[in-house]
Amino acid sequence: MSNTKYVFVTGGVTSSLGKGIIAASLAKLLQQRGFSVTIQKLDPYINIDPGTLNPYEHGECYVTDDGAETDLDLGHYERYLNIPTSQANNVTTGRIYQSVIDKERRGDFLGKTVQVIPHITDEIKHRIQLLGDTGEYDIVITEIGGTVGDIESLPYVESVRQMLWEKGEDNAIVIHLTLIPFLAAAGELKTKPTQHSVKSLMQSGVSPDILVCRTEHQISDDIKRKLALFCNVKKEDVIQSIDAETIYDVPNLMLEEGLDEVVLKKLKLTSEKKPELKVWNEFLRKHKNPTSEVEIALIGKYIELQDSYKSITEAFIHAGSSNETKVKVRWVHSESLTPKNYENKLKGVDGILVAPGFGDRGIDGKIKAVQYARENKIPFFGICLGMQMAVIEFSKNVLGLVDAFSTEMKKDCKNPVINLMESQEDVTDKGGTMRLGAWDCKLEKDSKIHGAYQKELISERHRHRYEFNSDYKDQIELKGMKATGINPRTGLVEVVEIPSHPWFVGVQYHPEYKSTVLNPHPLFVDFIKAALKYSKK
Ligand code: GLN
Repeated sequence: MSNTKYVFVTGGVTSSLGKGIIAASLAKLLQQRGFSVTIQKLDPYINIDPGTLNPYEHGECYVTDDGAETDLDLGHYERYLNIPTSQANNVTTGRIYQSVIDKERRGDFLGKTVQVIPHITDEIKHRIQLLGDTGEYDIVITEIGGTVGDIESLPYVESVRQMLWEKGEDNAIVIHLTLIPFLAAAGELKTKPTQHSVKSLMQSGVSPDILVCRTEHQISDDIKRKLALFCNVKKEDVIQSIDAETIYDVPNLMLEEGLDEVVLKKLKLTSEKKPELKVWNEFLRKHKNPTSEVEIALIGKYIELQDSYKSITEAFIHAGSSNETKVKVRWVHSESLTPKNYENKLKGVDGILVAPGFGDRGIDGKIKAVQYARENKIPFFGICLGMQMAVIEFSKNVLGLVDAFSTEMKKDCKNPVINLMESQEDVTDKGGTMRLGAWDCKLEKDSKIHGAYQKELISERHRHRYEFNSDYKDQIELKGMKATGINPRTGLVEVVEIPSHPWFVGVQYHPEYKSTVLNPHPLFVDFIKAALKYSKK
């Protein structure tokens, strides 16, 4: 048995209160006090993972080193904590039921009737404790997705109730994140929605230990006292979480409010050390006091929901801070770019990033954006589908292969410069079957990419089915686009660049997943540096 302590984070009143950010901020403070901490997200939907979800549903699908397709909150956890997460850090109802049903088919339940309680709840508890049982963590923070009171959250809340009882009050606690709305007409902050959500939690047998209250205005002592009285907590356990200028302010705000201290007190943990946020605050200082500004066009087809590109925009913030530069994003819908208007729409930007994506919607616009960047020597960064578009554009417009395409968009195209990986040919299922997770890549010395990373062997995360078709490599290289990163095991081309262009790099992998506050991604840092140089011309 490990001595791991458990902190559960539930949400009340409404979704989108930022449970992930609160969990990550608390974890950061505990980590900076010297505790080893990890965060887990439990998602109550029935998909096995978000890999099959359209980004419009829940935003970006994040990918871990071990190839799990996960909720975007795991991206926040990694960006804040600077430690990798894994498959075990994100569990959905689909996955819980799948493993219970698999066990039932194997006969593991020995003739018993399989039920939500105890079988589903046992499986949920097992998944929560898997991380604790590794012995690697002093504290596991588990965020329960959804809002208390939802039908689909019930088995999770029941599992939390059981775990609180089993572990004892010094070893497991609940933080309830709630909203204190401000009624402009009355000029007042209102506590009633919180009272109701706590009541609903209590009806399930769970009493919160700490309330974290999202608010647009300062919460007075009187309101804290009222909340404490009606929600059965002590006044010092009511923590204000006021709207912040940036999500990266939240650890400091939670530190001021003493969230880490109340948590440690309840878990009977002591730490001499105050959280040390020097590097974090240096990042924040540079982020908030930029000396220059660049504008980057982000070309994608899901831009109506900017969360679809969460890791990319966060990587811009990290790279911007590191260059003391404000990175302004010009959101450009790939479907809105036409041969007539693309120059106008892209005029004035200092860099162009063509984003990852699937399917043929907006493809022509993406190709036009690549062409504009290439011809006008504007720094260009292509990620995954963006890299594939760069290869297609080059083949069409420089090699003169007018029908060059990807077999993803045109199955029978004459010049499939991007085609299905051999390993994908017999794959028919969509879920969890792409090339996923971390793969090594060997970089060519004297290349842009090598200059950015300053090393020869890198490891980056993937999520795709199609690849650069090596049959075209010689022709493409002859005309000036070079393959400067190769997978040493499979020989697949992972990076292309145009050496005669100031900064033109396409990567088959997703560097954005690995950018953190402490380690801004070198490729993003270099891209922003190139954009800065371009802007000063
Ligand atoms: N649709 C492309 C592929 O499957 C690119 C995927 C992506 O951009 N993540 O290869």
